Amino acid sequence: MTDTTTTTTTTDTGDGLLIDVRGLHAGYGGIAVVRDLDLTVGPGEVVALLGPNGAGKTTTLLTLSGLLTPIKGTVEVLGEPVDGNRPHLIPRRGLAHVAEDRSLFFDLTVDENIRLGLTGDRGSRTEAYERAMDLLPALRPLGGRMAGLLSGGEQQMLAMARALVSEPKCLLVDEMSLGLAPIIVERLLPIVRDIANETGCGVLVVEQHVHMALEVADRGYVLNHGQVQLAGSAAELSANRSVLEASYLGESALE
Ligand code: ATP
Repeated sequence: MTDTTTTTTTTDTGDGLLIDVRGLHAGYGGIAVVRDLDLTVGPGEVVALLGPNGAGKTTTLLTLSGLLTPIKGTVEVLGEPVDGNRPHLIPRRGLAHVAEDRSLFFDLTVDENIRLGLTGDRGSRTEAYERAMDLLPALRPLGGRMAGLLSGGEQQMLAMARALVSEPKCLLVDEMSLGLAPIIVERLLPIVRDIANETGCGVLVVEQHVHMALEVADRGYVLNHGQVQLAGSAAELSANRSVLEASYLGESALE
C-alpha cells in the first residue's frame, strides 16, 4: 500500500533554506510515528503539510520546534540543528509556532496576549505591533476585549498576531481551521499567504482543508502513517485530485 511517490519535493534554495529536514524519524518514547521525512521550507514560501488524522503532522511541527527530540535524521531550522535540547532558544532564532490549541490566555485582553509575543525595544515593539495589525486588521478594534470572548476565528487571528509580533523568519501553523466553519477558514488562510509575501517569512501550515490550503500554498507534502505519500507543487497536487485522494488513503499515488 505504501509506495512512496514523490513528484517535486523541494525548492532547492540551497543555504537559504529556513527549514531543512533530512531522513527524520520522530515520535514518542523512542517509537517513530514519522519516518524518513525529507522536508524543506524556503523564505517567502507557504508549504502545506497535509494528511489524514494521526498521520504525524503535529509530531513533525513539535520536532521542528525542538519540543520533541528527533529519533533519527537531521533537522535544521534557520541554519542551526534542532536536537530537542534547549527548545526555548529556538524562538530567538526566528521560529514561531502557532499550536493547534492556540495557547491563548482567555482572562487577558487581546492586546495583553499580543504583548506576550513582543520582543525588542519599545520602538521596534510598536512597529512590530503595527505590522501585525496591518496583516490582521480585524483585530484592531478588539484590543481591549478578553481573549475568551472572541469568536473562534478571532482567536485564531490573535494566535497568529502573537506569533507575528515576534517578527519570525519562519512560522509554523498547526491546523488554524480547527473548530472553524469553512467560510471562516476561507478568509483566514489567505492571511498566511499575505504574511509570506509581505514579510518574506517561510510558512509551514498544517491543514485539513486540503483544497483551500493548496490555493494559498506554493508546495505541499501529504503524510500518511508517518511517511510522505506525495509531494509537489500546489498546482501539481491540485490538478490531480485522484492521486491526492489516493495518497490520503495510503495507496501508491501512481497505481
Ligand atoms: P491530527 O490531524 O489528528 O491532529 P496528526 O497528523 O497531527 O493528526 P499526530 O498528532 O502527529 O498526527 O500523531 C501521530 C501519531 O502519534 C498518532 O498515532 C498519535 O496517536 C501518536 N501520538 C501523538 N501524540 C502522542 C503522544 N504524546 N504519545 C504517544 N503517541 C502520540
